Amino acid sequence: MRNNLFELDFEELRETVRAWNEPEYRASQLWQGIYQNYWKYLGQFTNLPLSLRQKLEQQFIIGSLKPENVLESADHLTKKTLYRLVDGAAIETVLMRYKERNTVCISSQVGCGLGCKFCATGNMGLTRNLSRGEIIEQVVITAADLKTNGHTLTNVVFMGMGEPFQNYGAVLGAIRVLNDSRGFGMGARRFTISTVGLIPGIKRFTEENTQINLAISLHAADDELRSSIVPINKKYPTSQLLAACEEYIQTTGRRITIEWALMDGINDTEGQANKLVSLISGMLVHVNLIQLNPVAHYDGVPATDHVTHKFQKILIEAGIPCTIRLRRGIDIQAGCGQLASVSK
Ligand code: SF4
Repeated sequence: MRNNLFELDFEELRETVRAWNEPEYRASQLWQGIYQNYWKYLGQFTNLPLSLRQKLEQQFIIGSLKPENVLESADHLTKKTLYRLVDGAAIETVLMRYKERNTVCISSQVGCGLGCKFCATGNMGLTRNLSRGEIIEQVVITAADLKTNGHTLTNVVFMGMGEPFQNYGAVLGAIRVLNDSRGFGMGARRFTISTVGLIPGIKRFTEENTQINLAISLHAADDELRSSIVPINKKYPTSQLLAACEEYIQTTGRRITIEWALMDGINDTEGQANKLVSLISGMLVHVNLIQLNPVAHYDGVPATDHVTHKFQKILIEAGIPCTIRLRRGIDIQAGCGQLASVSK
């Protein structure tokens, strides 16, 4: 079976070229072809000698994801693509168009083993981790698609299927490749990793001290409620999680986003808002509220607009920056917590 060029980082590509006794600049030509020109076929590399192209064709392919189903929201601002992977598994990727930015929400795993109650991906269970190349390719395909229509990809968020810190090496490896200024060159600050609170991952990420953004899906301000919504809380309780967050903030000087899916009568109460205030007061955080997106297997319903604004007011009056995130792509099940490879 031929290897996928998206699985290589630049050094590995250079090593391959060197082993073939080709000049090293051939690696740069390949890298630019893939990550700047978005060439999909080795035949497009007419800047390479035919003998090298033939060698590459015998051993490599460019990309392995097969787009199988594309859904666009009624307002045309959200597009969800289901990709079939080489082993027959499937993942979903979502492009969200805003006035001044284009954000792709990508998957890091096929399914997820953490079982958050409100999440369609969690309901699937975990099939496997995605490889570095499968993560990279979701971004490159989206960027190429946007470029064809005269637009640019501005942000990448790991908020699709899977818990990124359960696939730490591939996720950070993919960001490093996409960040490489010799190729795709997307700034580290344009990436956001969203975790449900895996403390070992947060600690490792803290040590790396990158400029990549970190978001924590908190959803509840006490252990009893949080464990009932986010089961991993039993292993990594709220107080330890927030201590790890504080350590991250102190080490990196970077602000953390706290994600909170507001569910009617569950975590949208004044009591929860006040508890949240006491938990995060003084921390360098920003709270993002999102009214729950409906999923078939969970009977929780979104908080009302009135209650959502009341919750926000409590935080703002306590001096905590807080915004309400617009729900996007709900009509095509492309919102947070709605991704599952059901359209296969
Ligand atoms: S919310 Fe994230 S961590 Fe929780 S089950 Fe869904 S994908 Fe997994």
